[in-house]
Amino acid sequence: MLIGKSASFGIGIARALVLKSMELQIESGQCHDQASEVERFYKGLRSSESELSHLFDKTLKDMGAEKAQIFEAHLLMLQDPEFRDNVVSEIQSKSCFSSFAVDVVSKRFIEMFEAMDNEYMRERALDIKDISSRVLKHILGIETPDLSHLNEEVILVSKDITPSQMASIDLNKTIGIITEIGGKTSHTAIMARTLELPAVVGLKEATTLITSGNILIIDGESGEVYVNPDQDTIRIFENRRKEILKIKNELLTFRDQKAVTQDGRRIHLEANIASALDLDSVLKNGADGIGLFRTEFIFMDRNKAPSEEEQFHIYKTVLEKMKQKPVVIRTLDVGGDKHLSYLNIPKEENPFLGFRAIRYCLRDKPLFKTQLRALLRASSFGNLSIMLPMISSLEEIEEAKNILKECQAELLIEGVSYSKELRLGIMIEIPSAAIMADLFAKHVDFFSIGTNDLIQYVCAVDRMNENIHSLYDPFHPGVLRLIEQVIKAGESNQIEVAMCGEMAANKSLTEILLGMGLTHFSMAPGSIPKTKKIIQEMTFKMASDRSKKVLTLASGSIIKDYLNSLK
Ligand code: PEP
Ligand code: MG
Repeated sequence: MLIGKSASFGIGIARALVLKSMELQIESGQCHDQASEVERFYKGLRSSESELSHLFDKTLKDMGAEKAQIFEAHLLMLQDPEFRDNVVSEIQSKSCFSSFAVDVVSKRFIEMFEAMDNEYMRERALDIKDISSRVLKHILGIETPDLSHLNEEVILVSKDITPSQMASIDLNKTIGIITEIGGKTSHTAIMARTLELPAVVGLKEATTLITSGNILIIDGESGEVYVNPDQDTIRIFENRRKEILKIKNELLTFRDQKAVTQDGRRIHLEANIASALDLDSVLKNGADGIGLFRTEFIFMDRNKAPSEEEQFHIYKTVLEKMKQKPVVIRTLDVGGDKHLSYLNIPKEENPFLGFRAIRYCLRDKPLFKTQLRALLRASSFGNLSIMLPMISSLEEIEEAKNILKECQAELLIEGVSYSKELRLGIMIEIPSAAIMADLFAKHVDFFSIGTNDLIQYVCAVDRMNENIHSLYDPFHPGVLRLIEQVIKAGESNQIEVAMCGEMAANKSLTEILLGMGLTHFSMAPGSIPKTKKIIQEMTFKMASDRSKKVLTLASGSIIKDYLNSLK
């Protein structure tokens, strides 16, 4: 049995499909027939073109224009006559093999782009690498699995899975994911949870220890992975899988009910999403709204930031599909573990303490304004709130508000309408903001507590660092006291306080958070039905007594013991 980190709940049993990076064997020496090498090159080009067109169509249909754009750009680059002519003349002048010619010409283009002054043009070198390896694979006849069309059920095993790969996989056939790197709050983990796909991350050397075709059992809750298990183990996990499915289906009957405690306190259970694609799951699980749309995901795996028009369409789609239910869209939270190659963010010693989120947006005003304008325009189509991430000072709130006003004034002049009901809130995820919450509350319409970051900053524990993971403790009394302080600051200023970090879905803490006065919980859509059931079974009175008791306890493990004693 192998053990990684639990990332997304659920059990999957299937054969492994291990994604390895293939060595491309370029053919050196002289070819015997130039004409057939030229034809071999053209054949490779045609296959690459049809593969890219197919990827473009599928992505456009399933995920929209913004994700499909990368394939369109690659198609255009592939069709560039300069590239073709150079490869053909290389074959003809040197009598080399087509793979060699493609390799030489691509390297020439890559060098040329890498030497350019402009950051954006330098980034194009990556695209050339991608395109040339696609053409080379076709020329050399190397099969790469098409993850969007799988023939049998598989558990994907890879070093890492990028958000764009994640978005293109065949969800009917992919029943689990195992990666070598990443933690519970990594992108892969967040997307897997939203897609309700069992996932184990941070399983070191998974692609070496597991071979394609091995039968695997993946337990997304414990982080366990069994390789070629015996029939008895398979039977045990198959029964557990069925049991989980049964419970999940039973819980879906809560979909149209409200989360109300036995003594009548109404709690709002909202969903965290990363793209418009997640909306099916949001609606299926009966969310009261969207509590966090992490917009950075729509900026990823592309060559440049999405335009105002592209962003407008995505936000409008989400708002329309949510039909007047509240939708909180967070402005770009780039930096930390979320790197965007086309933005000018230098490599940092401490990226989580660095040039991140609102700090970056306030310095890249055109980028920030593009997003705010798109959001404002979309606001006419639903019930929108804008949320600013990583706020640590009043000046940041004021500066962001001024930029928002500037965008509103521009739209007014352009005669473009936007909602006058728009609310502006901030994430409380930096201790300085949590401590200042009573005063910040006078300047914004709502708070949303981002515990993923708040815990790492309160406890001084990097959320990605596996060696000190046990110190990353949602039960730490320091964390809980600070959260209570924020909730009380919101209450006394009559603004809404939500929580959108992973802690909002932690069943052991639901009662305590509710008892502290938290009214809005936002989480992966699949966690909503279970949380609703838990809330329906409790009373606010008892929750608040228990939360008072918890706040008198001196350590995370004492708090855990106390909560276990109540079960
Ligand atoms: C958080 O920090 O809790 C949060 C919701 O934001 P993210 O995980 O995207 O940093
Ligand atoms: Mg955060």
